[in-house]
Amino acid sequence: MTKQDWQTLSTLLTTPKKLVIVGHKNPDGDAVGSCLGLYWYLKRKGHDPVVLMPNDFPEFLKWMPGCQDIVIYEKEIEHTKELLEHAEMVFTLDFNALNRTGELGEVLASTKSIFVMIDHHQQPDHYAQFTYSDTTMSSTCEMVYHTIGALGDQNLISADIATNLYTGIMTDTGSFKFSATTPRTHRVVADLLEAGAVHHEIHHHIYDTQSPDRLRLLGKALANLVIRAEYNLAYITITQDELEAHNFKKGDTEGFVNYALSVAGVVFAVIFIENKNEGIIKMSLRSKGDFSVNDFARNYFHGGGHTNAAGGKFDGSMADAIAFLMKQVPQYKNQLNAI
Ligand code: 5GP
Ligand code: MN
Repeated sequence: MTKQDWQTLSTLLTTPKKLVIVGHKNPDGDAVGSCLGLYWYLKRKGHDPVVLMPNDFPEFLKWMPGCQDIVIYEKEIEHTKELLEHAEMVFTLDFNALNRTGELGEVLASTKSIFVMIDHHQQPDHYAQFTYSDTTMSSTCEMVYHTIGALGDQNLISADIATNLYTGIMTDTGSFKFSATTPRTHRVVADLLEAGAVHHEIHHHIYDTQSPDRLRLLGKALANLVIRAEYNLAYITITQDELEAHNFKKGDTEGFVNYALSVAGVVFAVIFIENKNEGIIKMSLRSKGDFSVNDFARNYFHGGGHTNAAGGKFDGSMADAIAFLMKQVPQYKNQLNAI
């Protein structure tokens, strides 16, 4: 975004508009937090915004201010299409390629509107008139904070905005410990606390409201941990049967892959999660140092993300997914042993 772009965007937002704010499929804390943070801000500016998600979001996020107003595409397809037809501007947050919204991506691709992208992932597509893309940012929530500042409205940051933005920064940085957490992130967070975010309540909502089923599923996942020490690799598998035996609910496996990365010496961690309905194995990939799981996921698993955190999928069985991973890994042996 150039200075001129910010000026043009600011001018566009001086008159009340019908706006749609979209997050990615399988929304996480950063997607929901950034969309709702922007939602409350645009509402305060006198606009008529609606937050739209491709599919439902996890239970542990269902306390975030404004979340009851979110429209879920999968549940309200016709309503979604109407909203997009009338949208004067569409903000897409926490993703940078329309296919990250699943089937909704086709509807978005044929939507005639002014698109604004706010995102911190690598290699953005070029579908937006305004592209605010910065891979040095901890989270899209941090970028929404800077967006509000760039539009000269820092003083409009309410407790609702601050609570949503704090939540996304906290979840995307693993509670401020991942390498993308910078001094700037902490300064933003300090402002959000002053604006009314209550950090211990937010922490409680996210981390201390777990079901026994979810904790036992974690136990199963940890029991399934495999270490391939020659590659400093660890992976975890969870089958659909194991999910069902633990009454799986959306979001239950969030964070599991980090346990694999926490093993001493491990620099590359993968979790394979079977989804029989879609006929795929959904994968989360994590790394330490400069081994890029973004590149790895892009090259082999139809995915992407960040250097140290990415996602992807494999079309086929669990056994084939593991075999395919293990077929690729040897060529990276030196790199994985150099970290
Ligand atoms: P997670 O493994 O927690 O689902 O995602 C890690 C990071 O990779 C997040 O920033 C997420 O947005 C991104 N990501 C997850 N799945 C995919 C995918 O299938 N494609 C792409 N391009 N990015 C993904
Ligand atoms: Mn994010």
